[in-house]
Amino acid sequence: MTSVVNDSRVVSRTPARDLPVSGARVISNPCVIIVGAGPAGTRAAETLVAAGLRPIVIDEGQFSGGQIYRRQPTNFTRRHEALYGADAGKARALHDTFDALRDRIDYRPQTLAWTVSEDRLHIVTNGIASVLRFDVLILATGATDRLAPVAGWTLPGCYSLGGAQIALKAQACSIGARPVFLGTGPLLYLVAYQYLKAGVIPAAVLDTAPFTAQLKALPDLAVRPGILARGLMFRMRVWAAGVLIENGVVPIAIDGTEEVAGVRYRAADGAERRVACDAVGMGFHLRSETQLADLAGCAFVFDVETGQWRPEADNDGRTTRAGVYVAGDGARVLGADAAEVAGNLSALAALADLGIEVNMTEVARLRKRMSQLNRFRRGLATAFPWPARLAATSADEVIVCRCEAITAGDIRDAAIAKEAPELNRAKALSRIGMGRCQGRFCGSAAAEILAEARGVSLADVGRLRGQPPIKPLSMGTIKSQDA
Ligand SMILES: Cc1cc2nc3c(=O)[nH]c(=O)nc-3n(C[C@H](O)[C@H](O)[C@H](O)COP(=O)(O)OP(=O)(O)OC[C@H]3O[C@@H](n4cnc5c(N)ncnc54)[C@H](O)[C@@H]3O)c2cc1C
Repeated sequence: MTSVVNDSRVVSRTPARDLPVSGARVISNPCVIIVGAGPAGTRAAETLVAAGLRPIVIDEGQFSGGQIYRRQPTNFTRRHEALYGADAGKARALHDTFDALRDRIDYRPQTLAWTVSEDRLHIVTNGIASVLRFDVLILATGATDRLAPVAGWTLPGCYSLGGAQIALKAQACSIGARPVFLGTGPLLYLVAYQYLKAGVIPAAVLDTAPFTAQLKALPDLAVRPGILARGLMFRMRVWAAGVLIENGVVPIAIDGTEEVAGVRYRAADGAERRVACDAVGMGFHLRSETQLADLAGCAFVFDVETGQWRPEADNDGRTTRAGVYVAGDGARVLGADAAEVAGNLSALAALADLGIEVNMTEVARLRKRMSQLNRFRRGLATAFPWPARLAATSADEVIVCRCEAITAGDIRDAAIAKEAPELNRAKALSRIGMGRCQGRFCGSAAAEILAEARGVSLADVGRLRGQPPIKPLSMGTIKSQDA
């Protein structure tokens, strides 16, 4: 790991893996693969098709649309307006774009990309594994909830915030009759509002971000007045329905014996309180899905603002590995509008690198738009900061890794008694991050506990290296590829 690169928010980087990179990029009839058919992947495909290419588009979902514009199951008939609210127009535009591309791309839904080796992408569709060669790989893999361990978060009835939203959007189900939404980030208020609209009155919205942080962020958030107004409207509607909203809380525990029964927390005034509930939707903004970029051999940088590692990339999405690009929330969490712009930009960068002429006026326009959206992202980071001390101060018995039931105490033991200096060593000694999620949900909390126990900075304990398969696969599936 080396220190200090050219971005003031970045303090360290992990070098690219030692993989061969292709030199000359001018290739006739290049094989281009896009992973992800959300806003970023769709716009990347559109740009490539417009340039006369026929990209392969892979997505593990049944339909295109990604997270925000997730399409409903075929037996649901809700209109776009009912499903996406104020974003209905954008959702329709993105879906229509993708549908119009269908004959001009090689679309592979329900297909998981599970690793990258040199210039090969390893995929599995309905249990059948295969390998695709690529000249260009655009990773538009999006984000997932960012989670922090809280005592009792493994009780039945505790969901991630995104999971609570997907239950509502894709299955028309509520996670409970009186859920608490706990955490921070714009999704916290949005999901509470969506539940309210669906007829479920939340027991409370408990935000770890102080209200002052939200006020401080207003100048940056105001660059997108419409979105800011919508965010305020969600909060007002939830509050007007009589839902308790508290800012600046510190979660103490999700309690219950067999299932979730309440949330205990320290309020901003220092008092300990409890809200009774039958379910919890918990999330602390989002984290990028970066494992494929890691396995592709891209260098990573540590982002001080969010306390997360992300693939090192230029403004157009070029990574440190020639031919590999990142776009959308999978590169950096900037939201759906920015993901569309980033998708366009990454495809234009790939085209330019292939020696295909691109419209530089359009590139300049997109870059300008991106920098405006980046200012809004900064506002979100200020308004909804990650609760940096929550994991590090967890009691020893709190489970950090849900897959392997590894506690905060186990990580401290690896750090102190077993002298693990960095996260991968702590993994070997404690099994943190060795389970089904491969550290996607516990890795950053484990890093914080390790850094605190060792008395070093978060960047100094590094990050969990990506390991294939990035999501669980049967041995039979992997073997079928070798056959
Ligand atoms: C759970 C959740 C809910 C959200 N809800 C909202 C909301 O209501 N409103 C809002 O404004 N923003 C919301 N966001 C944020 C918003 O969805 C994103 O900003 C936006 O969708 C980013 O677009 P994207 O194309 O970068 O990624 P996504 O839309 O996430 O698309 C990524 C796609 O890549 C696919 N993929 C990822 N990895 C692989 C792989 N290995 N193999 C195959 N396919 C893969 C996924 O299936 C997905 O379809 C939400 C985010 C999450 C995680």
